[in-house]
Amino acid sequence: MSAQKIDGKAFAADLRGRVSEAVKALPAQPSLAVVLVGDDPASHVYVRNKIKFTGETGMRSIERRLPATVSEDELVDVVRALNDDDAVNGILVQLPLPKGLNSDRVIAQIHPDKDVDGLTEASAGRLLLGKSGLRPCTPTGCVMLAKDALGDLTGKNCVILGRSILVGKPAALLFLEQNCTVTIAHSRTQNLEDVCRSADILVPAVGRPEMVKSGWIKPGACVIDVGINRVPSIKRPGKFRLVGDVAYREAVSIAGSITPVPGGVGPMTIACLLRNTVLAACLQNGWAVPDIIAGL
Ligand code: NDP
Repeated sequence: MSAQKIDGKAFAADLRGRVSEAVKALPAQPSLAVVLVGDDPASHVYVRNKIKFTGETGMRSIERRLPATVSEDELVDVVRALNDDDAVNGILVQLPLPKGLNSDRVIAQIHPDKDVDGLTEASAGRLLLGKSGLRPCTPTGCVMLAKDALGDLTGKNCVILGRSILVGKPAALLFLEQNCTVTIAHSRTQNLEDVCRSADILVPAVGRPEMVKSGWIKPGACVIDVGINRVPSIKRPGKFRLVGDVAYREAVSIAGSITPVPGGVGPMTIACLLRNTVLAACLQNGWAVPDIIAGL
């Protein structure tokens, strides 16, 4: 038997379509400000994609490009000015920042109501306390894909493999919000394979290529692979290919449903960022969130 493939690319395209519909239903056009510092080529590609999709969903994007030589205080001033600008609904500071700039201090400046990446301490606190707020994008995408595959997640055993601030911890809280029984596993977890095998929903977010083998997966489980790892291509020497944290080829014969890499969780991140921008605009203006994007 082969697992159902959870098509994150298609789901993300559908979500972007729903975001477009939601934007049309709003009294005014939401806007997303992206702050890009320095010349990191990967960051430039990410920002280009974010700007492209922002436009495609009918929202306005505002760019602030700064040289790697910018001082931390100047960067903080740019973020604060965006906070004060009523025409800006969402603020995203592309990470990593160049060496010498303290990303924690810069991120901390973002007003929580404009924190579309969900990375500030205030957003993390709202999530922990179960208060409404903007949730981190990748973990939100994981929950959406699991719900798409399984429906109601109530009572499911969910194992998150990884405890990072960016993915593991918020993912654990978001699955808890869905009434899952959540276990967070990490590098010091004992009997890791057994812990993973107890999962109805397994969410590896480790960054180790194909670490999770088929024997770690409970037959029929839903596997949401967050890992994105570049490994040398066997077919094309000198080139790289992307693999997840799960040994996909063997896992498909045991899992009930599984996300591929690429084309699984990855595309959900930007789609959730766009959704967060609409949510932020609604929050700031007291607008009702359009039903089409309201639930997870
Ligand atoms: P981090 O490196 O910050 O965290 C990795 C986590 O994995 C840590 O909690 C670590 O445990 C745990 N870990 C490492 N080795 C082991 C091991 N041998 N056994 C068990 N646990 C282990 O990574 P991120 O959370 O930022 O990212 C994880 C992966 O997700 C990466 O591949 C990244 O590229 C990908 N990613 C994908 C995104 C997407 O859009 N799809 C977005 C963000 C990330 P400990 O805390 O004990 O050290």
